[in-house]
Amino acid sequence: QNTTTGPVVKFKIVFLGDQSVGKTSIINRFIYDNFTGSEQPTVGIDFICKTLQMDNKTLRLQLWDTAGQERFKSLIPSYIRDSNAAIIVYDITNQNSFSNVTKWVEEVKEERGNNAFIFILGNKSDLEDRKVSLEEGQAKAKQFGLNFCEVSAKTGQNISSFFKNLSMTLSGGN
Ligand code: GDP
Ligand code: MG
Repeated sequence: QNTTTGPVVKFKIVFLGDQSVGKTSIINRFIYDNFTGSEQPTVGIDFICKTLQMDNKTLRLQLWDTAGQERFKSLIPSYIRDSNAAIIVYDITNQNSFSNVTKWVEEVKEERGNNAFIFILGNKSDLEDRKVSLEEGQAKAKQFGLNFCEVSAKTGQNISSFFKNLSMTLSGGN
């Protein structure tokens, strides 16, 4: 049932990270609670909304999914500037995607300064052939003073707790 009470608070959340780390899959898992394993590469920038009821507030989350194609890269900064939170995703089986988290953090800080709310997600925690340990992920997040968790869009592990955390942090800071 989608009855809403209280004030509606809107949040723009932008998903960043290298191509194929699973940004679209994480959003699909949260919105539709499924994983097809055959997501089409995201073209350009796309958004989808989800309304959540928290205590006496209605949260309207606008999730912005970005694409890795070079020709769309120049659009990303304006979406970051406009957002309430940035979710930087890497793939735990792809060391390069983890190294690039630093670049994404710098890009967000460039647009939003130090008041940016950033969450780092290590995705594909279901896979055996990990290249990045949990500890390395935690250490990088700590280095930048950011929130962190590992998730799996495939199994759904930690996805709802992540979004719950995100929503609580966003609404608490409002
Ligand atoms: P995006 O480019 O960051 O949006 O990544 P996609 O969501 O398109 O996912 C890229 C590929 O990784 C696809 O083949 C997905 O099926 C796969 N994938 C995404 N998330 C997971 C996950 O949690 N576990 C596994 N095993 N594969 C995943
Ligand atoms: Mg995508």
